[in-house]
Amino acid sequence: MNDSDASYRRLGAHFFSENTPTKCLKPEVLLYNQDLAEDLGLANLFSDKDQGSQIFSGNKPLGDFAPLSLAYAGHQFGHFVPLLGDGRAHLIAQIKGFDLQLKGSGRSQFSRRGDGKSALGPVIREFIISEAMHKLGVPTTRSLAAVATGETVQREEIRAGGVLTRVAKSHLRIGTFEYISSRGLKDELKKLADFTIKKCYPHLQGQEEKYLEFFKEASQSYLKLIARWMGLGFIHGVMNTDNSSLSGETLDYGPCAFMDDFSSQRVFSSIDQHGRYRYSQQPSIGLWNLTSLAHCLIPLIHEDDQTAVKILQSELETLASFYETESMKVMGAKLGIESAGTEDKKLIQQWFDYLEKHHLDFTLSHLALKDLLDSQKAHSFFVDDEDFQTFRNEWTQRLKLQETNRSVELMNRSNPIYIPRNHLIERAIQNTYQGDLRFARELIEVLKHPFTEQEGREEFRQGPGPLQQGYRTFCGT
Ligand code: AMP
Ligand code: MG
Repeated sequence: MNDSDASYRRLGAHFFSENTPTKCLKPEVLLYNQDLAEDLGLANLFSDKDQGSQIFSGNKPLGDFAPLSLAYAGHQFGHFVPLLGDGRAHLIAQIKGFDLQLKGSGRSQFSRRGDGKSALGPVIREFIISEAMHKLGVPTTRSLAAVATGETVQREEIRAGGVLTRVAKSHLRIGTFEYISSRGLKDELKKLADFTIKKCYPHLQGQEEKYLEFFKEASQSYLKLIARWMGLGFIHGVMNTDNSSLSGETLDYGPCAFMDDFSSQRVFSSIDQHGRYRYSQQPSIGLWNLTSLAHCLIPLIHEDDQTAVKILQSELETLASFYETESMKVMGAKLGIESAGTEDKKLIQQWFDYLEKHHLDFTLSHLALKDLLDSQKAHSFFVDDEDFQTFRNEWTQRLKLQETNRSVELMNRSNPIYIPRNHLIERAIQNTYQGDLRFARELIEVLKHPFTEQEGREEFRQGPGPLQQGYRTFCGT
């Protein structure tokens, strides 16, 4: 599909509004992703830094693309909001099958009471975390540039403003379907489904039951993604349907965070007061969100609504067990178990119960467990209680059942050494606000090789000290 076929403009006026980004006074590129720019054929834009600053702040267009803000609805914390849309974002180009979008670039038709802007801190956060996620091998939107606008924004305090350039396979969300479906626009619904299939699942074009297949594949990508998050101790924080991508990419790094000490009930977001999006709840929220998508697709699945509902319900049941299988694979690999299945569920649960009981660091515990297997010595990291001994015995027995002895290698591949820990990100942000980008840049470098021990970078591996705990996150990039 060439880029003009993929243009959201082809969908028609229901789906977007044309808006020009608001100009800012004195833009300056702070972080720039050279590798990604090369992949997109944009590396030359930065031979002239000023040109890059003008384009990635929204002051100048990229080519002749007229910027768009996309329309969508969404279930926010379980409540349906019929109109959301890009209130602070502008799509500025579609290149090589990717969308380039500015975030924090000013008001649009969808801004409601918002200022359309972003503080610099969340821009730096999204840049670091999304790129780390990519290097961890998890599907995600990516970050091309972080720009300081030279202006201030009013949040709880007055902050320096910023704009992020986000790159995504698509910005289509469950909320895009909800927007069209809730308006009863049947022709547009079909158009949207065909467009999404063409953009994200092109191999389904021409298949007899392509809409049902699309539901299956988009759902499976989303659930696989959630299983990967769970395996890293990642908490998205605001799994509303408007933040749930149909291309299976991690979308919208707002109040997300990686967990340090393990708690299945961990919540970071200051607005998630009832813990709807807590760690342990992410898979069931994922399925809940897919039920919303299924609801939108009813008219495309069968001419008789009752029949369509039955088909989709049965698909949703299959998806629940699909998630279980994925989850076992991911968690099993972390423990060195190849193709773990439901028979391993109890062992895996024992492990997480043990981590939770002793508030052990999610990432460091897996590394210590790998060391234990590697050297067969007792490891001072662990509290050697009865639970640990039981787990260790059963785990060792389980590994003996495997034909090959690649457990250590599998654990190395499945357990990162470096993750974007909250206290590191916070330090990068605070330093950036003070005009010092060295730490942010070093952190980005370290996170480019999350599975490789890096000499002299011990501080990037460690969990937070006592003063750095109790981290809270906030919405509002
Ligand atoms: P989010 O919580 O980032 O997923 O955003 C939810 C909705 O609020 C989306 O429609 C955003 O475009 C909109 N929004 C968030 N912050 C702002 C802002 N500063 N100005 C305008 N709209 C915003
Ligand atoms: Mg959002």
